[in-house]
Amino acid sequence: MKLLPSCHDVQTHLTDYAEGSLPWSQRLGIRLHLLLCRVCAAFKRGLEALPGLAKTSLAPPPEAPEAAAEVLARIQATLRKS
Ligand SMILES: [Zn+2]
Repeated sequence: MKLLPSCHDVQTHLTDYAEGSLPWSQRLGIRLHLLLCRVCAAFKRGLEALPGLAKTSLAPPPEAPEAAAEVLARIQATLRKS
């Protein structure tokens, strides 16, 4: 990778960059690129948002309010009778 990597290089190695697993010369090149390139900076922000999205989407659903639980119990009781 050149000192100032291409957009493709940056986007390909962005996960490794975020994990700190790249040699310092590559990290420096990607850091410089991110300062100069809005597209890759936006790509990086998108990647950084993913863990939050995954955490939100994988979170257990909030408990149903007590009134909803009572309505559900009544519906289930009605269904059992019929
Ligand atoms: Zn770029």
